[in-house]
Amino acid sequence: MRSLIRYCGKCHIYTLEETCPQCGGPTAMAVPPKFTPNDRFQKYRIKMRNETDGKNSN
Ligand SMILES: [Zn+2]
Repeated sequence: MRSLIRYCGKCHIYTLEETCPQCGGPTAMAVPPKFTPNDRFQKYRIKMRNETDGKNSN
């Protein structure tokens, strides 16, 4: 249970508690921030890296 990350939709914060430390409301399970689709540049970074690797290996 140590790696469960939870999220408060009210405060928009991540916490490990089942209740939000800020508003005291219930939190929902969430994925780690680095895996959120909000990182719209991540796919471009991966694409650039793949292209670079392809050139290097050729
Ligand atoms: Zn909250």
